Amino acid sequence: MLALGKLLELTLAGHEPSAKIQLTPDGTRLRWLDEGALEVTPPAARDNGLDLLLSAGIHGNETAPIELLDRLLRGIARNELHPAARILFLFGNPEAMRRGERYVEQDLNRLFSGRHEQSSGFEAIRACDLEHLAANFFGKDTGRTRLHYDLHTAIRGSKIEQFALYPWQEGRAHSRSELERLRAAGIEAVLLQNKASITFSAYTYAQLGAEAFTLELGKARAFGQNELVNLDLLESALHALIEGREVGEDSTLDGMQLFSVSREVIKHSDSFQLHVPADIENFTELEPGYLLAEDIADTRWIVEEQGARIIFPNPKVKNGLRAAILIVPDDGAGLA
Ligand SMILES: [Zn+2]
Repeated sequence: MLALGKLLELTLAGHEPSAKIQLTPDGTRLRWLDEGALEVTPPAARDNGLDLLLSAGIHGNETAPIELLDRLLRGIARNELHPAARILFLFGNPEAMRRGERYVEQDLNRLFSGRHEQSSGFEAIRACDLEHLAANFFGKDTGRTRLHYDLHTAIRGSKIEQFALYPWQEGRAHSRSELERLRAAGIEAVLLQNKASITFSAYTYAQLGAEAFTLELGKARAFGQNELVNLDLLESALHALIEGREVGEDSTLDGMQLFSVSREVIKHSDSFQLHVPADIENFTELEPGYLLAEDIADTRWIVEEQGARIIFPNPKVKNGLRAAILIVPDDGAGLA
């Protein structure tokens, strides 16, 4: 296997490879760009016009997705996978990956779309680097198709194991065919966002014009202990995307659950209390009338929505930040 296929090993060891470019026997070019960043270019005759950005490890302890990207890249470097797409592999937070932690100083996935300029330290610099790597990869050629999957595992358990967050941009409809592709990849639910965000996928979606998703794929565990996170469907869907094969003919959203954001619960003060168990799972349903949270000045958050569910509860966030999201079922009428 080509040495550059061992990007994960190089990254975990903090090694910069001496040879930055290698060619597989079938003419695919691997080019090392930066720590945790490698570009794959298929031979011109096979290039199908897809620019595919695959990232993982934006949070450093998300081992199952990191291992999945490692397998894909090794498959290419062993001449077993034959790309038709251009691909950029990114391991998001190498220093946190080496430490096996979620981040070093702060959450890297809250520093995109320029937010890093108001911050400093390791993660702020890395967010700036990742933006440049993604922007350079997609380049200025608007005739190509741009797709970004940012692979994550969640801190807490979830009633719905594998789901996607679909970013938002003013005047731009969410794509039904992209959701069909995700459904074929085993994604069971999608949260259609309705405001701008500062995550990596929100950056590539809104600033670079890519179709982009944050994929939550199960619960985070240590390296080698991921047998409970089943990525088989996603892995075969990614093989097909990389090689330019269609996955199935039956394009449908049957069985895929769509949600939209009803309200974000914002923590205003140190007296904020979130009235859910600490280990509550994402997508847990909450009945109308449920007292969800209380804060200073008799602020009360009471569930009014039918079919409401909670995701990403975190009462420990800084004041002024989001402590939970209330979501509701969406009929998909806004899809295009
Ligand atoms: Zn994550």
